[in-house]
Amino acid sequence: MEKCTAIVLAAGQGTRMGTSVRKQFLKIGGYPVLYYSLRCFQESPLIQEIVLVTEETYLSYCREKIADTYGFTKVKKIVPGGKERYDSVYAGLMACTDCDYVFIHDGARPFITEEILKRGLAGVRKTGACVIGMPSKDTVKLADAEGCVKETPDRNHVWMIQTPQIFQYSLIRKAHESMRKKDMTFVTDDAMVVEQETGVKVCLAEGSYQNIKITTPEDIAVAEAFLDEK
Ligand code: C5P
Repeated sequence: MEKCTAIVLAAGQGTRMGTSVRKQFLKIGGYPVLYYSLRCFQESPLIQEIVLVTEETYLSYCREKIADTYGFTKVKKIVPGGKERYDSVYAGLMACTDCDYVFIHDGARPFITEEILKRGLAGVRKTGACVIGMPSKDTVKLADAEGCVKETPDRNHVWMIQTPQIFQYSLIRKAHESMRKKDMTFVTDDAMVVEQETGVKVCLAEGSYQNIKITTPEDIAVAEAFLDEK
């Protein structure tokens, strides 16, 4: 079986949450937001290793208060991230050793499941690149510079993208290295890097409508409601 590493990103400052505690460490259902996705990767037979990326000042907090406290033995490395999300991803990629596939995941998305990981692995086996997402429930409009509608894509072809995003390790590392030689800004996910830097097709696999990213205070209330349901 292929060797899979999860890169879990928790190096963002989360300014949109407006709290002094970083959003990935806020408690929901009695545990830090970050705990839930780490637990899913820890329990998954598909994942051999976890690389956790966080801010320099939170390295020992993550080792002691998260990995050791909750017994996440697959967390082999905790490395400092960078200014932008893609810098943190690159730091995670550089810390990976001997793996075929990487699952790049936002630590701010607590509600991933084993089923999502299985669909992601099936997807990456097809083309080397797979993103998790869900068909859009809303009509999406592209805006022009004046704030008017430029285009309305056919909703049947619009997906809202989540994480994890899963790649062949050599492919995503090469794509990131090639991007870093250029002046690419507006990079908000890793599939974009593969789309722009390689000819590889990125396949889509279903996540879930509960796989939300904790970003603003409303998301905490929604997350608590999902946990109550469980
Ligand atoms: O800011 P945003 O919510 O889009 O961040 C998505 C994920 O990327 C979060 O889990 C955040 O901690 C992580 N991130 C990071 N390094 C950055 C920026 C964001 O690890 N420089």
